[in-house]
Amino acid sequence: MRTFGCQMNVHDSERLRGSLLDAGYAEADGAEADLIVINTCAVRENADTRLYGTLGQLAKTKRERDGFQIAVGGCLAQKDRGTILDKAPWVDVVFGTHNLGSLPTLLDRARHNDEAQIEILESLETFPSTLPTKRESTYSGWVSISVGCNNTCTFCIVPSLRGKERDRRPGEILAELEALAAEGVVEVTLLGQNVNSYGVEFGDRLAFGKLLRAAGEIDGLERIRFTSPHPAAFTDDVIDAMAETEAVMPQLHMPLQSGSDRILKAMRRSYRSARFLGILDRVRDRIPDAAITTDIIVGFPGETDEDFEDTLRVVEQSRFASAFTFQYSIRPGTPAATMPDQVPKAVVQERYERLTALQDHISAEENQRQVGRVVDVLVAAGEGRKDAETHRISGRAPDNRLVHLVPGDHALRPGDVATVEITRAAPFFLEADAGPVAVRRTRGGDAWDLAQADSCGVPVRAGTPLGAQPVGPVPVSLGMPTLRV
Ligand code: SF4
Repeated sequence: MRTFGCQMNVHDSERLRGSLLDAGYAEADGAEADLIVINTCAVRENADTRLYGTLGQLAKTKRERDGFQIAVGGCLAQKDRGTILDKAPWVDVVFGTHNLGSLPTLLDRARHNDEAQIEILESLETFPSTLPTKRESTYSGWVSISVGCNNTCTFCIVPSLRGKERDRRPGEILAELEALAAEGVVEVTLLGQNVNSYGVEFGDRLAFGKLLRAAGEIDGLERIRFTSPHPAAFTDDVIDAMAETEAVMPQLHMPLQSGSDRILKAMRRSYRSARFLGILDRVRDRIPDAAITTDIIVGFPGETDEDFEDTLRVVEQSRFASAFTFQYSIRPGTPAATMPDQVPKAVVQERYERLTALQDHISAEENQRQVGRVVDVLVAAGEGRKDAETHRISGRAPDNRLVHLVPGDHALRPGDVATVEITRAAPFFLEADAGPVAVRRTRGGDAWDLAQADSCGVPVRAGTPLGAQPVGPVPVSLGMPTLRV
């Protein structure tokens, strides 16, 4: 399974993996795979070049190995449809963003008929979270609350590929959260293109704040995060729910995109910089230690030096903990692609460098303010690339800052919590070199142990409550369970 793109795609891949395991497929686990599934992204630059490059490399395997299958799904498949089979006729299955659950059937059909299968639906058949899910992490999980988007940002291809917003019922979401907690998950991230417009489909404008509060009541869920909210739909009841729900972490990722009101209008983003800054003030007023992060696009068509200066000004005022900065580039199929006054590449590059230099400076200053603080770090698997050589382990502070820590004599498992004092700061991470002042073994760590036992050949059925006898063959959990253990 190769996944490109955003968290939504990563979570979709968890569902694809779950559907395939449910249908009798097994992980290749380093052996030669009989099936390659590519979950594509249409947002990132050069997505199609990367896809066709990967497919080109797989053509030889396809020629040489009987029964080898290739499936291509996700946003680029939804967009390019039959073109994929025209350009790479050795592909077996093309499926879209609305029919993830059809993959096993389409693979069967392609094998049986000895003919490529293509199935792209225009709208969602089944909410994807009703599909089985094979989650990547034992202690931390993604949970979709909505898919699609009703906005029409002119740089974005998502609405045409993922469709109108579809909201999942609160009861279903809470049932999934409860089941995850029962399995040992201690951290969840609620996912949607536009999480705080959640409820628009069933007519409750306050639904997102209510959902945060209800999720905060679930026993065992220690950390609740969400991504991404839209500034236009951000209401004070959500800030209240964040501040008053202990498990909702002091963190907010809210895309700014531009600090220029003129450019925001051209982007069809219906808030203005004053509103954005007002939300930050109100969040910081209620949650003083909140770490706020953002996305910014540099060089949108028509962006002048003055517009860009406005972005720098808003970035200075916002004091983001970090920012994902993107250079605008044309995405075919979006309204902005055909706008006049595309900004020359050299100008975009120069602005981008100025913006990242400013933000890196702010990130370093904001991180420096963390030195001396004592924070609870949720130990993670695979967050610190240099952990082995530096004899550290890594994890996330409540505000989602990355912390590399020296574990001392403690055998900390991913999912456990170490309380540490921050001893050093860099722009993109913090260090805690004095060893933990306290450690807490959590149900998340127990779930990690259970999964390790499973991968060592002791079969465990996901959904087994912690402490119970692990039984059963395949660790696939239902995304929308009906039963709380
Ligand atoms: S809010 Fe705008 S950028 Fe985000 S998914 Fe919707 S259209 Fe795209």
